[in-house]
Amino acid sequence: MLPNSPVSELLDDIQELLRQERALFGEALLCDDRTTRKEGTMAKTKPAVPDEPLLFELPGPAVAPITTEAWGNAATLADLEGQINRCMKCTLGGTRTNFVFGVGNPRATLMVIGEAPGADEDAQGEPFVGRAGQLLNKILEAIHFKRDEVYICNILKCRPPGNRKPLPEEAESCLPYLRKQVALIQPRVILCLGLTAAENLLGTRESLGQLRGRVLYYEGIPLMITYHPAALLRNPNWKRPTWEDVQALRALHDELVAKNPK
Ligand code: URA
Repeated sequence: MLPNSPVSELLDDIQELLRQERALFGEALLCDDRTTRKEGTMAKTKPAVPDEPLLFELPGPAVAPITTEAWGNAATLADLEGQINRCMKCTLGGTRTNFVFGVGNPRATLMVIGEAPGADEDAQGEPFVGRAGQLLNKILEAIHFKRDEVYICNILKCRPPGNRKPLPEEAESCLPYLRKQVALIQPRVILCLGLTAAENLLGTRESLGQLRGRVLYYEGIPLMITYHPAALLRNPNWKRPTWEDVQALRALHDELVAKNPK
């Protein structure tokens, strides 16, 4: 291979990246079995127990254009919301009281993504305002984030009747809006709440237990997953592991923001 050829430059870049990752994370950096990886899914790695070093996985494939519709050109969150809040792409448009776009800091370094609005959120037009939302606020406070410092939204913008899980066609219609929100906010880290959100964001069929403690990627942005606050209300035994997850998230956040401040 010729010195200074594009391939040799690329190899140099990769080596430099690996040197930096090794300096940060030591030998805990595992990028294993890429051959089992399909688009939108993740390679299998041993699930990390929370006090082990984080396992990084490579970002997913290059991101496809979001839409050719006019809202794709929205330059701000307010502009985007104004263009999409009368959406009727799925049947939930006909049953909602309010479109629940998202709330928080448009320049947030942390974006929190839940599943879908419930009754309280549908009534008020804001995500995570019911009991699960109050618990989410406490979880955020525990890692020294104020609610208005982060950005909070859901996979779906409209409430599924009876709080059932999002249907695949509902998620498919709604996810491009979330992708656009992520593109506008450019968070340094995403916290995914619960397995349903993770399945929709990552296209994975792995269990929550397999996904916790790992750094995954959505749209090229590092993402960690923990229990949904509504699940914690039903099963307080999960509070301890959630605490461990969010501590790891805070550490990752601080590291990434230090490297790439906003
Ligand atoms: N559960 C969610 O996933 N999102 C909300 O906004 C409220 C409850």
